[in-house]
Amino acid sequence: MNTLSISNLTKTYANGIKALNNISLDVPKGMFGLLGPNGAGKSTLMRTLATLQDPDEGVISLGNLNVLTQKNEVRNVLGYLPQEFGLYPKISSEVLLNHLAVLKGITDKKERQEIVKALLYKTNLYDVRKQNLGGFSGGMKQRFGIAQALLNNPKLLIVDEPTAGLDPAERNRFYNLLSELGENTVVILSTHIVDDVKELCTNMAIINQGRVLLRGKPLQLIARL
Ligand code: ADP
Ligand code: ADP
Repeated sequence: MNTLSISNLTKTYANGIKALNNISLDVPKGMFGLLGPNGAGKSTLMRTLATLQDPDEGVISLGNLNVLTQKNEVRNVLGYLPQEFGLYPKISSEVLLNHLAVLKGITDKKERQEIVKALLYKTNLYDVRKQNLGGFSGGMKQRFGIAQALLNNPKLLIVDEPTAGLDPAERNRFYNLLSELGENTVVILSTHIVDDVKELCTNMAIINQGRVLLRGKPLQLIARL
């Protein structure tokens, strides 16, 4: 079962800021929106779910995996798109995906080419597969990030504030891609943009100051804002 369960998560930084203050959430398959203002604790929560940061207390499980102790197993089924990520500028998307597939252990060349081609098609990057990543626009980079994440066949895909700096056409393209994935994967979309959640997500939570304020269906919750 691909559900994510978060229980009583707390995190206080060295400067005394309580970024997570007893967060508990059950996240089903599909697109889940995490809405909150800047400083609410969204990125801290996303990094914690992505096994990149340890909380002070709490339990996170993904299906039957313990996310906080079985990090390697979780990383094998995880896709994480941080707010900003660097890409090697002097390599093409096709070449980089191919390298990553090798690292992933897909040793058969033909199989690898097929997988890479399918990912490039899916993310609408096939036509620019030979271009260096350094010339990619923000939207192209985000879509490449998704292609990279999908190489893992993720059970959990974490997307942190993806649409900052994207034009409306790119934003729509990115969203169409995400909503396709949501059917089989737990996708968590962190954002401070209400419309993002309204358009895309089947479930959501609103967090502020490290606490869950409300959770439920976007249409019902957003009407109350
Ligand atoms: P430490 O205090 O032990 O160095 P922190 O977890 O406080 O560790 O800081 C880790 C990193 O996060 C540092 O690079 C720091 O510059 C950065 N940082 C510190 N305060 C903030 C903040 N309020 N918001 C975002 N990043 C911060
Ligand atoms: P959001 O993603 O919702 O903007 P963050 O998780 O980045 O929220 O930040 C939550 C709170 O924790 C903020 O007050 C922020 O300044 C603080 N914070 C974030 N990272 C660090 C850090 N490394 N060290 C100290 N404080 C941090």
